[in-house]
Amino acid sequence: MAEIEREAMEYDVVIVGAGPAGLSAAIRLKQLDADLDVVVLEKGSEVGAHILSGAVLDPCGLDALIPDWKEKGAPLNVPVEEDNFYVLGEAGKLRVPNWPMPPLMNNHGNYIVSMGNVCRWMAEQAEEMGVEIFPGMACSEIVYGDNGEVKGVVAGEFGKNPDGTPGPGYEPGMELHGKYVFLGEGVRGSLSKEVIAKYDLQAGKDPQKFGVGMKEIWEVDPAKHKPGTVTHTMGWPLGSNAGGGSFIYHLDNNQVYVGFVVHLNYKNPYLFPYMEFQRFKHHPMVAELLKGGKRVAYGARAITEGGYQSMPKMVAPGVALLGCSVGMVNVPRIKGNHNAMLSGKAAAEAAFDAIKAERSGDELSAYESEVREGAIGKDLKKVRNVKPMWSKWGLVPSLALGGLDMWTNSAGFSLFGTLKHGKTDAAATEEASKHKPIDYPKPDGKLSFDRLTNVSFAMTNHEESQPCHLQLADPNIPLSVNLPKFAEPAQRYCPAGVYEVVEEDGKDARFVVNFQNCVHCKTCDIKDPSQNINWATPQGGDGPNYPNM
Ligand SMILES: Cc1cc2nc3c(=O)[nH]c(=O)nc-3n(C[C@H](O)[C@H](O)[C@H](O)COP(=O)(O)OP(=O)(O)OC[C@H]3O[C@@H](n4cnc5c(N)ncnc54)[C@H](O)[C@@H]3O)c2cc1C
Repeated sequence: MAEIEREAMEYDVVIVGAGPAGLSAAIRLKQLDADLDVVVLEKGSEVGAHILSGAVLDPCGLDALIPDWKEKGAPLNVPVEEDNFYVLGEAGKLRVPNWPMPPLMNNHGNYIVSMGNVCRWMAEQAEEMGVEIFPGMACSEIVYGDNGEVKGVVAGEFGKNPDGTPGPGYEPGMELHGKYVFLGEGVRGSLSKEVIAKYDLQAGKDPQKFGVGMKEIWEVDPAKHKPGTVTHTMGWPLGSNAGGGSFIYHLDNNQVYVGFVVHLNYKNPYLFPYMEFQRFKHHPMVAELLKGGKRVAYGARAITEGGYQSMPKMVAPGVALLGCSVGMVNVPRIKGNHNAMLSGKAAAEAAFDAIKAERSGDELSAYESEVREGAIGKDLKKVRNVKPMWSKWGLVPSLALGGLDMWTNSAGFSLFGTLKHGKTDAAATEEASKHKPIDYPKPDGKLSFDRLTNVSFAMTNHEESQPCHLQLADPNIPLSVNLPKFAEPAQRYCPAGVYEVVEEDGKDARFVVNFQNCVHCKTCDIKDPSQNINWATPQGGDGPNYPNM
């Protein structure tokens, strides 16, 4: 194919991703110097369309960034009033009292929010300050400079044929160049993955760990709705099959977020995270809340869980990784939005100083130091052993020892040092011959739903006549390796039913990739045991259209 010619636009800072990290960086840059040229590129059809968090928001990030957020009308309307934690059995529950929990686990002072709406509000603030925000613009390539530095990105390429050649309405997109490029793509960003590999940024760090989070919004009977109530559970239905648990957050307007996270280091390839979530809603405690209500939205997204030990080096020449492109979730608190905001702020401050000193295209090492030694590093360091303990010893010992470790870490020391994460989540998958298939109950259509019906509530859409963005390095691997060895787990780990093995009488089995269903969670890129799937960004505007997730 002939080399594509693109127009280029020059900025001071180019920001990929209008999540809390990217938007915080944009706002902080403009606070520091209103004359800086700052652009934010977002692949969702609008800001917020691809945002999926629980979410209980610790406002410390917003306090640091926009101290008068209340006066400015930020949509933080539901303060946490009640905080419950249960270990579930199949029919019963055991309440874990709040008093043995370390203070960092306390949710009082936090807010139950739609992070999609918080991001929409942050985008308004940024635009009022003069930030250019372009939704519907997927960044598909990194542009490198003559000295190997990151110089920009390609955004807005549309209209390729399925084989990758330019189609009839082809638009080549633009190159957006910056003195610095910030990647705020969230978990397993496609450009971030390239940059981490190119500059070997994970060297000397533990592997990143992940979970897959699924979430539904329910409208419940007003008599059962208690705004401000936060409930977390562990135990049933996962038991010893996998780590993870649920969250139930009562928002306003009779809405409740019901979500479930499964840690992706599970061994049994027959495990079906989506069906675990559906089964969970039949627990008497949950069923009682949801009975008579209606599910109004569904979505899924991977979540980073490696924490302190797994954060890669986050700067390379010309580029900085922000938020969950690095992995800044405090796992026991299931919170990363505050750190995403603080990281955007810190990166902006480092870039501002560098630009003022007439630097460009180099490493923003001041940003990295601030993340590791400042508020983010302190937040993550205290909880660094919780996830490895869970992986090594299971739920009950890790609850006790993890609690103890968080207490001692709050006083500045740990009896365990820093425990290491083992393998990658892909490598944790064991062969199917070592495990038994799991018999999941059929969804009843009232509390639980089949996957494809639920995916229609993510309102996801992909133009069909484009290349499949779920790229198989070797198209034979799903059937020649993954099926015989691992019972092709893609059929089950994908929460959107993208991957199917179709076996028809008298015909050879086929591996089908229904990329139109993809909700951009990135689980396939993480969990495929052969690491054969690359999640590349589809054209801008495609993907889910979440309402107030
Ligand atoms: C189920 C679940 C529950 C959670 N609950 C909570 C909670 O209760 N509280 C909490 O604080 N945290 C929670 N988190 C964690 C929180 O969601 C993350 O820490 C946070 O989203 C990280 O922010 P970010 O800006 O780094 O990335 P994101 O919020 O993921 O934003 C990234 C943005 O970049 C865009 N993007 C990505 N790649 C490209 C590209 N190539 N081109 C253009 N645009 C691109 C995406 O569309 C998206 O809009 C939860 C996460 C999950 C999955």
